[in-house]
Amino acid sequence: MELPFAESYKIKMVETIKRSTREEREKWIKEAKYNLFNLRSEQVFIDLLTDSGTGAMSDKQWGAIMLGDESYAGASSYYNLKNQIKELLGFEYFLPTHQGRAAENVLFSALVKEGDIIPGNSHFDTTKGHIEFRKAKAVDCTIDEAFDTEIDHPFKGNVDIEKLENTLKKYPVEKIPFIILTVTCNSSGGQPVSIENMKAVRKVADKYGIPVIYDSARFAENAYFIKIREKGYENKSIKEIVHKMFSYADGMTMSSKKDAIVNIGGFIALRSEELFKKATVFNIMFEGYITYGGMAGRDMNALAQGLDEGTEFDYLETRIKQVEYLGKRLTDFGIPVQKPYGGHAIFVDAKKFLPNLPKEQFIAQTLGVELYLEAGIRGVEIGTLLADRDPETHEERYPALELLRLAIPRRVYTNNHMDVIAVALKNVFDRRDKITKGFQILSEAPIMRHFTVELKRV
Ligand SMILES: *Cc1c(COP(=O)(O)O)cnc(C)c1O
Repeated sequence: MELPFAESYKIKMVETIKRSTREEREKWIKEAKYNLFNLRSEQVFIDLLTDSGTGAMSDKQWGAIMLGDESYAGASSYYNLKNQIKELLGFEYFLPTHQGRAAENVLFSALVKEGDIIPGNSHFDTTKGHIEFRKAKAVDCTIDEAFDTEIDHPFKGNVDIEKLENTLKKYPVEKIPFIILTVTCNSSGGQPVSIENMKAVRKVADKYGIPVIYDSARFAENAYFIKIREKGYENKSIKEIVHKMFSYADGMTMSSKKDAIVNIGGFIALRSEELFKKATVFNIMFEGYITYGGMAGRDMNALAQGLDEGTEFDYLETRIKQVEYLGKRLTDFGIPVQKPYGGHAIFVDAKKFLPNLPKEQFIAQTLGVELYLEAGIRGVEIGTLLADRDPETHEERYPALELLRLAIPRRVYTNNHMDVIAVALKNVFDRRDKITKGFQILSEAPIMRHFTVELKRV
């Protein structure tokens, strides 16, 4: 008999979580104005709000924390991280930042100016925010397949090379400071980009003389998918694939809170000394001195260790198989979810789940509240609340997809938790015909409203 799969780690420290009653949850979610962000963590049994900064560090990472060097300049922790970045990712220069968006802020301060165009696959919201804040424009060149949840394409994060080349032809070269490639592509559902596509992007970029920057939060999960799905890479190690991926990039921004399995941190890594020097000025201004830039020495140490662990096949296999396990259980119950399953999350297609609900009543948010009421599970709406109003007309922008994202923290929950999530969602699915009313807005902020919006039942 074939041995079943099991996690590539055992548990050394635990944190208690508490179940609650439906009555308690009714009261709490009402007090939270039906906004899941307003709940206290004690009011949540299984927290799938995000996989960002919510991972469990290893014994070796906690050990590295104790060895942190807190010297203002020239700390050993800085050199430790610098060596790891050089060895694993191949970049000579790096700047630590306090998280991913800070890396974007620093690098874009050096590169982006008003009127610029930044093409890429679906830009992450903070990336887009930092582009638009500088009155520049993000142009989405993702392949069309990415926008259909039913199509099973192995690399839905890929750039459509024709769309990219058309964009590069349309604008003068000096208006395009770089191309940004998000690996994996968060906004299209944690979908990977293939090496073949990275090569093709590089080729077009070289033709026009434009640098390529990777937004790299989930680069290791991307490498895992390449190993599993792309011909020619099945016998390569994750670290070899990672090296190959970044060989097509001129630089990267990183949110270490994802694939580097730390609770806070980020960095910029670059090949060009000139650009490094330019960015350094902004890093010192916004983040901190060159050798700590927004991070404590201990956190840089944990990050260096996390980069190593996060690019080990056994860890990644455990991680991705857990996400896949949840996806399969939901699919077996007939629940509509995005295919293929993403690296860090399962996306429930809320429009298909609740077809009778009008779009004006926030379909994915309604599903999120129902799942919370059912079992104390917190997901996050990726739908109309997040899409926000049109900045000019202030009309609601209804996105093509209404998704409930169930993001799985790294090394935190067991498959028993996945079973609870699957059955809870099935119970909601079984009573979906009775869910005929959604929500309306009581109050909302002028931008990024989803974090603080207050709702009431229709
Ligand atoms: C999380 C994330 C960011 C922003 O990083 P923070 O650490 O949250 O500031 C940028 N890009 C991608 C793809 C991300 O997933």
